[in-house]
Amino acid sequence: MFDSHLHLTAGRFHGEVEDILARARAAGVCGLVTCGSDLEDSRAALGLAAEHEDVWATAGIHPHGAAWAHDDAWAGVEHLAAKRGAVALGETGLDYHYGSAERDYQLRNFEAHLDMAARLKLPVVVHSRSADGDTAGFIRQFRGRASGVMHCFAGGPDLLRVALDAGWMISFSGLVTFVPEIAGLVARVPEDRLLIETDSPYLAPVPRRGRRNEPSHVQWTCAAVADLRNEAVGDVAALTAANARRFFGL
Ligand SMILES: [Zn+2]
Repeated sequence: MFDSHLHLTAGRFHGEVEDILARARAAGVCGLVTCGSDLEDSRAALGLAAEHEDVWATAGIHPHGAAWAHDDAWAGVEHLAAKRGAVALGETGLDYHYGSAERDYQLRNFEAHLDMAARLKLPVVVHSRSADGDTAGFIRQFRGRASGVMHCFAGGPDLLRVALDAGWMISFSGLVTFVPEIAGLVARVPEDRLLIETDSPYLAPVPRRGRRNEPSHVQWTCAAVADLRNEAVGDVAALTAANARRFFGL
């Protein structure tokens, strides 16, 4: 299995990264992409990628930090994205869940990352929550120039269709084990577009829900995805790992 999105740099993992990686490998995880949320975090993610041959990193500014993003910060992201071990831009995107006060900042930040993706020919890791319409708008606007992965997919069927039509990957998290609306979309994704992830330390899947998530738990998401697609767990594991390697250019 390949955990296509997590946050190994999270404070909740501090001092335990080696143990967490050992448990992931023992559970059958062959690769992980640890995603940066701001400049400092992206730098730390790249540091972990440099230390472990089965870990890769991304560089970007999360929508939650978009209000502090500016030209210098994006230049910093671009600089980090060119480093060895960096496989994508992000995580970035739009999150309107807590209201729209910073919507303009988020739109500007997302567009800056898509511009960089087009220029650097790198994929973008996108977080989209309660923002289906604007996210779909950017996907259409950048069609043919930039694409990426809808990480922890939590949108509706329309956003799914727009993303798939534009060639994007869809990554499912532990949400598929406890959100029926998301579980109901899993079988609609063609096999060459499918990825799985933990987004750990957040969003632990059933039966680990409510506890700290970690990459070894990707096995529960893999099993749920296999069940929802009526496919063998081993086949989904191999397929999504091969997709991750191809998509991230490993
Ligand atoms: Zn994330």
